[in-house]
Amino acid sequence: MGQLRITEIFLSLQGETSTVGLPTVFVRLTGCPLRCGYCDTAYAFSGGVVMETAQVLDQVAEHGVRHVTVTGGEPLAQSECASLLVALCDAGYAVSLETSGAMDVAKVDPRVVKVVDLKTPGSSEVGRNLFSNLAHCGQRDQIKFVICNRQDYDWARLICDQHDLFSKVGEVLFSPSWEALDAAELADWILQDRLPVRMQIQLHKVLWGDRPGT
Ligand code: SF4
Repeated sequence: MGQLRITEIFLSLQGETSTVGLPTVFVRLTGCPLRCGYCDTAYAFSGGVVMETAQVLDQVAEHGVRHVTVTGGEPLAQSECASLLVALCDAGYAVSLETSGAMDVAKVDPRVVKVVDLKTPGSSEVGRNLFSNLAHCGQRDQIKFVICNRQDYDWARLICDQHDLFSKVGEVLFSPSWEALDAAELADWILQDRLPVRMQIQLHKVLWGDRPGT
């Protein structure tokens, strides 16, 4: 098996997605080629430790829970990430992958739930979105938008319509950018438009604040 550069492996409650609130082990891979303005994991851009895939599996197993989320940084920026995902699925975990919309997801194991974060204009990285990824997303998968302002909200709605996302994928997730947009304001917009999205706030930040390892 190969090697990966890992920033942290920790147990927490899933803060987002359709499994929010479930005890989950997070495997945070080091490195990201993007620089979103609201990034809350810049500490994962560099550093980390090199680990064998088998060591990662051992550390995950020590936590004794069923759900595992592979995240970053941008986990797919490391070529060995695909093999890690396969190994985690083979070991019987319920595996999800948090990835930006900028990396090709075509080779991700189909047993993995992909959570693809399409970059909004407010992220400053909207030009990095690979819309070809949407062809590889289905009913198991989730498309996330981090909304910084009304322009982002209108843009996200347009993208959902243009790509038929409400029918195509399992969930569309709208998150207010932390400390940039009032969550209640986003909730009002969604309700006014009767938009079939799951609005989410980041549970882990509500519980423990914006800090690593949560
Ligand atoms: S893709 Fe994620 S990790 Fe990378 S800069 Fe954007 S928010 Fe941060």
